[in-house]
Amino acid sequence: MTSTSSRQDPSVVIIGAGMTGIQLVIKLKQAGIKNIIVLEKTHDVGGTWRENTYPGICCDVPSHAYTYSFEPNPEWSSFFPSGSEIHAYFKKVTKKYEVEKHIRFNQLVTRCVYDEESNTWAISNADGEVLQADLLFSATGILHQPVIPDISGLDSFAGAKFHSSQWDHDTDLIGKRIGVIGTGSTATQIIPELVKLAGSKISVFQRTAQWIVKMDNRDFSDKEKQQFRDQPKRMERIRTWSARFWAQGTAALVSDRWFDRLTHKLVSWNGLRYLNKSIKDPELRAKLTPDYTFGCKRVVINPLFYDAIQQANVDLITENIDRIEPDGIVTKDGVLHPLDILVMATGFDATAFMRPMEFIGKSGVTIEQAWAKKFNAYRSMFLPDFPNFFLMLGPNSPIGNQSIIEISEIQTEYAIKLIDQWRAGKLQTIAAKPEAMQAWASMLKERMGHTVWTSGCQSWYLDSEGDALAWPDKWSKWVAAMQTPDLSDFVQN
Ligand code: NAP
Repeated sequence: MTSTSSRQDPSVVIIGAGMTGIQLVIKLKQAGIKNIIVLEKTHDVGGTWRENTYPGICCDVPSHAYTYSFEPNPEWSSFFPSGSEIHAYFKKVTKKYEVEKHIRFNQLVTRCVYDEESNTWAISNADGEVLQADLLFSATGILHQPVIPDISGLDSFAGAKFHSSQWDHDTDLIGKRIGVIGTGSTATQIIPELVKLAGSKISVFQRTAQWIVKMDNRDFSDKEKQQFRDQPKRMERIRTWSARFWAQGTAALVSDRWFDRLTHKLVSWNGLRYLNKSIKDPELRAKLTPDYTFGCKRVVINPLFYDAIQQANVDLITENIDRIEPDGIVTKDGVLHPLDILVMATGFDATAFMRPMEFIGKSGVTIEQAWAKKFNAYRSMFLPDFPNFFLMLGPNSPIGNQSIIEISEIQTEYAIKLIDQWRAGKLQTIAAKPEAMQAWASMLKERMGHTVWTSGCQSWYLDSEGDALAWPDKWSKWVAAMQTPDLSDFVQN
């Protein structure tokens, strides 16, 4: 049983000092919680934006929407921000709100165990040190475990090779033959930069053609930045426009309503039109034409890739990869593509969540057991056997182009409402009831059939049953579901 003093002054551990961890500290402090420790595995804040430093890295959500609601930033230099500028923004916010004093750096969490007697979590790091906490948050992000492709001979490659999220800046790229595996959002940002390198020869290995939408980036002028400073409403307008624009974009992927279907038709037509207008050579155009429904995979937003792929120093290889040899990649037709450097832009394991850490809940239930059949969490955040644990950006959190910062903030506010109820003694622990979880899972399953994600393609959205890990309904429905916790869905006193 949690003591009254623990409820009044709970200890909180947050795993990860990325975008979510930072705002959790700020909002929990504002909610009157002081005893907060963030365990960060590396030496710096910023998560994805600290980790990913590949050339061309940029966010395809508008900068003023990819910003905390409480910390607008009139200084953004462009409409779509670069990775380094986003990282700098998070560092600035960390400093301004004195988040750093809560962070313990270089602390890799390896094991979290719930103790039913004390209703606390024991959180161990790689050195075997253990912390106790009343409330535990996983803020480890969605896309952080790189997928290294399972291609025979990969280890035998003689040149430099690295995953896009582990870019080796010591490798000299000038005048080199560079192979890029993958044509997702990441690869399409990298390739236009590689193409510009003097004397480089780029071989792009595409397994599946992508739907690509063009949205041009542009710098904000000094005058515009001054206007943002003087009239913050201008920034607010971009946020609102972005949220509405992407909400309709999501509706086109998840709804059968005639207007949403029409939107889907229009955006598909627009994607094909962009391809047809951009790619001159019919053979190359055919290779780049997707053979699945628009939006089934995450749509790539990129204004530079089609131009880059038509440059003289680039080859698009669509023959499947057979193996890797010391000198390069051999495709199924037996052709060796000689390479000096190999870039694996092969994505991330979106089902890892907080793993590989060991996670043990009530009665010794492990997270592997809880998720043996399905990656589920009540309202994406709560697992019945894991009381007082908050899984940020968990399964079926909305994904796509809605700002993930907004999603993370909404989840935090929902968590705080529950914590308030728990502190007031209305909840025994913060744990969803199994029947609430089941009802939530059934609703998701029913909705899933209405989405384009299950229309037949391979993507990181899909779990082993072919259900998407995304929220399968409109954005407005998700926001509504996250407003007021239904206490009858939680274990009550
Ligand atoms: P991704 O979308 O999963 O793309 C991985 C690419 O690698 C795909 O083209 C995939 O081909 C290919 N691939 C994987 N394994 C392969 C293999 N064994 N052989 C050949 N090809 C292989 O990964 P990502 O590009 O890193 O993007 C992941 C997500 O990160 C995006 O969907 C997006 O949500 C996010 N992101 C966002 C931004 C942004 O601007 N906001 C930028 C970058 C990334 P298949 O398509 O055939 O599987």
